[in-house]
Amino acid sequence: MHSPSIDPSPPSPSATRAAALTRDWICPFCPLLCDDLVAACHDDGTLDVPDTECSRLANALAHYRATDAQCGCVVDGNEVDLDAALASAARLLANARRPLFGGLATDVAGARALYPLAAACGAILDHLHGDALTPATLALQDRGSLFTTLSEVRARADLLVFFGCQPSRRYPRFFTRALAGTELARELVFIGCEADPAAAGLAQTRVGTLLADADPYDTLALWSALAEGRDAAALSHGADAATALASLQDRIAKAHYTVVVYEPAALPSPHAALLIEALNRIVKAANRKTRAACLPLGGDDGALTANQTVTWLSGLPLRTRVSMPARVTGSAPLDHDPYRYRTARLLAEREVDALLWIASFAPQAWPASLDPALPLIVLGHPALAEAARARGANTVFVPVATPGIDSGGHLFRVDGTVVMPLTAARGAALEPVASIAAKLNERLSDLLNSREDQP
Ligand code: SF4
Repeated sequence: MHSPSIDPSPPSPSATRAAALTRDWICPFCPLLCDDLVAACHDDGTLDVPDTECSRLANALAHYRATDAQCGCVVDGNEVDLDAALASAARLLANARRPLFGGLATDVAGARALYPLAAACGAILDHLHGDALTPATLALQDRGSLFTTLSEVRARADLLVFFGCQPSRRYPRFFTRALAGTELARELVFIGCEADPAAAGLAQTRVGTLLADADPYDTLALWSALAEGRDAAALSHGADAATALASLQDRIAKAHYTVVVYEPAALPSPHAALLIEALNRIVKAANRKTRAACLPLGGDDGALTANQTVTWLSGLPLRTRVSMPARVTGSAPLDHDPYRYRTARLLAEREVDALLWIASFAPQAWPASLDPALPLIVLGHPALAEAARARGANTVFVPVATPGIDSGGHLFRVDGTVVMPLTAARGAALEPVASIAAKLNERLSDLLNSREDQP
């Protein structure tokens, strides 16, 4: 761990404007949480990271403007102060019988503060990336998993098998962060896709592909059988595929440490859990004779963080309804359902009567299918203000700080075992989600208590 320093130093080499530099800045825009960057905040409130090769980071920074600090709250299309916005939001939540807290793109403190608010109004919690998160949770619940960390991959993995994914598409610096600059000789095998171009040129690394066009379910059925010791010659279907996968099994047996990398979001839905479960079983079987583990790449926009925090607070992962028994009589205090509590389904079936949408890392709008009559409260990136104003009635918008840009914060890294401390690269006067959620909870509590006091 390190302590980032904010340094009002001369302009960066790539910038002509004066800039305050934050060294060892941790990027919050994908779960790799790269911590080797220098962020430049310019006098006009714009940001950049000089010399970065990461397109995802550059795109994310382009959403920040000089005017962000002046971004106001909006209620029903009109600009209001924070007090009025919180009063309106509390009223909408107090009147809802079954609200949904969606998006949930926030940090640890934000998720912690949203939890008691959810409990106070009987809300369902789902994340923007719930569809990618849930299959891994289901597979973990059913059979368990053996997973590893980025540090272990970097230090020990001599065979990496990428199942149906090219990591640099979503995580541009994956190979730089996980593998570059080490002396270890490695083999990288891509199954079910072409090799990731970003893997080319790594020192002492051989890159190959296997069954690039094969159906992932067929591939895993065969591979599972081979991993359990079945003879390739005895497997009747897909003789070439069986031979190729048997050769991979040989290489896994000879490797010191195999890591199977997959991206839940890149697997075919809606049955990705079956594929993840098969990968977990293959890795488990390999561990009878050697070392192997999985590295799932996912958890974008705070998905991993919200899931870990809610699990820690409630004992259940996301897609859980949190309800005070006294608030909704007859309902269980906690109810987890990975299918019923899916945002898209809840909105399509009109099973919720209000949406609290949290988007603090990027201006990701609430689902387009949202009924205009459904009350919507947005704790969002300043760039969402215009869309909230345009929605007009039944809409409250409160701008919030992005952790790592305008506030500090903590996020779980992609491997789920490391929590990284974020430092604000800019520090514009925007409140974090945690602070807004706590204020909203107080308002809601006052409102509900005053209703109870009425004869
Ligand atoms: S790879 Fe991810 S964490 Fe690293 S700089 Fe790019 S967006 Fe940020």
